[in-house]
Amino acid sequence: MKFLVFRKYKDIPNTYVDLSLLVFLAIMAIFNFPSVAIAIAVFGFIWLHEIGHVREAHKLGYPCKEITLYIVGGAAFIPLCPSDYKSELKVGWAGPWVSLQLAGIFAILGGLAEWIFPLIAPGFYVACFLNAMIVGFNLLPVIPMDGGRILRGSLGYWGFDLMQRNKAMLRISLVVGCIACITFFIYQLYFTSLLLVLVLVISFMEYRFVNDYYEQLKLLLLTHTVEYGNPPSLDELEHIERTLAKNMLE
Ligand SMILES: [Zn+2]
Repeated sequence: MKFLVFRKYKDIPNTYVDLSLLVFLAIMAIFNFPSVAIAIAVFGFIWLHEIGHVREAHKLGYPCKEITLYIVGGAAFIPLCPSDYKSELKVGWAGPWVSLQLAGIFAILGGLAEWIFPLIAPGFYVACFLNAMIVGFNLLPVIPMDGGRILRGSLGYWGFDLMQRNKAMLRISLVVGCIACITFFIYQLYFTSLLLVLVLVISFMEYRFVNDYYEQLKLLLLTHTVEYGNPPSLDELEHIERTLAKNMLE
């Protein structure tokens, strides 16, 4: 169950808040009211981060239907073709870039506030820190995190084909994810460990998704070739890929 909190405006899609997040905020409000303000700020920053992805995807011709904020973070549903590694890299980087800029802006504001109104400076520093954390966590080289997508996109530039990229990312995700998981568990950061287990599950699901996509794409190309007597042109190929990615995500 999710609730609409922002109605579509230009290239920013409908934004929903999942029930899990609302319950979490309500519990926080009961036990520790001031922490709700920080939690809302965090999810506000995550939303801006997602808008970074969404706007870049929109520019590249992949309109996003919705953004949803869950207790574990935000998700923008962008029907990106797994074969389009150039867009994957650009869209993947667009979110962390927004968070990095926000961290920079809040650092500067904090510095200025120390001169003019020192009392509010710590607030800006906290905002800077939160955005830096969002950048750090998202740049883990693990699918479905942005770092994983950036790495998978980059592998395309280094000559890896779709299936090689997909296999390489599953292996990298498993190794990095397991090391991070064990580390967080040793330091008793159980919530973060749990989050990473979830990330690893999604990583495997994404691996399966790209495999299915590839199999279906091969079939569609074969059908096209038989039907029209010649393989699809580049434009037709792009259309086939985009339609397939969109249908598979819906
Ligand atoms: Zn992101």
